[in-house]
Amino acid sequence: MKFKPANNIQDLQYFGEFGGVNPSISDSSTYTFLSAKTMFDTFEGNADGCYLYSRHTSPSNLYLGEALAAMEGTETANVSASGMGAITPVIMQLCGAGDHVVSSRTIYGGTYAFLKNFTPRFDIQTSFVDITKLDVVEAAITKNTKILYCESVSNPLLEVADIAALAKLAKKYNLKLVVDNTFSPLSISPAKLGADVVIHSLTKFINGSSDTVGGVVCGTQEFINELKDVNSGASMLLGSTMDSLRSASVLKNLRTLHIRMEQHSKNATYLAEQFQLLGLKTVYPGLVSHPSHEIFKSMMNEKYGFGGMLTIDVGSLDKANALMEMMQNKNLGYLAVSLGFYKTLFSAPGTSTSSEIPEDEQVEMGLTDGLIRFSIGLDADIERTFEMMKACMEELDILEKREVVELV
Ligand SMILES: *Cc1c(COP(=O)(O)O)cnc(C)c1O
Repeated sequence: MKFKPANNIQDLQYFGEFGGVNPSISDSSTYTFLSAKTMFDTFEGNADGCYLYSRHTSPSNLYLGEALAAMEGTETANVSASGMGAITPVIMQLCGAGDHVVSSRTIYGGTYAFLKNFTPRFDIQTSFVDITKLDVVEAAITKNTKILYCESVSNPLLEVADIAALAKLAKKYNLKLVVDNTFSPLSISPAKLGADVVIHSLTKFINGSSDTVGGVVCGTQEFINELKDVNSGASMLLGSTMDSLRSASVLKNLRTLHIRMEQHSKNATYLAEQFQLLGLKTVYPGLVSHPSHEIFKSMMNEKYGFGGMLTIDVGSLDKANALMEMMQNKNLGYLAVSLGFYKTLFSAPGTSTSSEIPEDEQVEMGLTDGLIRFSIGLDADIERTFEMMKACMEELDILEKREVVELV
């Protein structure tokens, strides 16, 4: 049967201890043992089904982890206190002094800063490459490379990684392909395409209510066990554990993800098409004008669409700022970073989320001053939203010098 990520979440069945339809929340940091011998065995890493201490594992975190593993089609998963709390232990677990990472150059600003500024302290070096150019990726691999790192759909430029092709490269050179799938949950299933490790910032679409940060690492049982190892696991020892109350709350939000993703995608597709018709430089993987449109199509679980993220270029930072302020005043969304909220969120990535990337590098990769990144919300009437956005653009003379692009 075809892999159906939303069904896989839906089909899980956990009752609370009193028959509640939601699993009970584990409200304990530590757990009793019936015998001292079992406690000893647990420290040695071989007491299946025993809880020891909540930084290691808690029932609530296991429930959420299992649901996310079912969604991604991996053996298991480990949730964490934030997306960065998932990404950093994976890199530290897979790399030691002298090792090397080949990473996409257009990735989340925090991940970029970690690889560029922080891991060199441990003598872990990173080559940043254009992930859409497979020959360039391959040429960057050295005998010390351990990780091939990318985002399915990159932040903020919405470049699309050809995950199956990258997985082949990773196999050939015995690397781990680590994919951050935050921008395209349900739409793309990286593990099914050959990724070894799939990461999400749960903060975004998956939780969807902008009320917490959270993260997850999905992978093999063996790798997750390594991350959680009491003596040598980076997740266990760096300690970015999600709280049980919060994981119970994220699990409840996860159940509507499939409906939300369909609506985010539907609204973003409509706006991207309309913006492009207005002559605005629009980037959205669902547009045939997107350089990786066909690759996205070949990878996607069609029902969930091309996602909720799009960018437009309005020419200058001043215009971008004026437009964002005006749209917020008209209640068309919020001038805020992050994504996956019910409201549309917009920001100018050059000056906000990607400020860790030096200016000359930003220009080289197409991160222009006038770029606005949108996370399109769940608006019930997206035609009205568009008309109101268009009126803002007209008032600010943004549509003056448009080139009309044909929608094929
Ligand atoms: C937000 C984000 C992260 C970091 O997640 P936090 O939950 O903020 O720590 C990582 N990758 C991507 C693609 C993101 O959008």
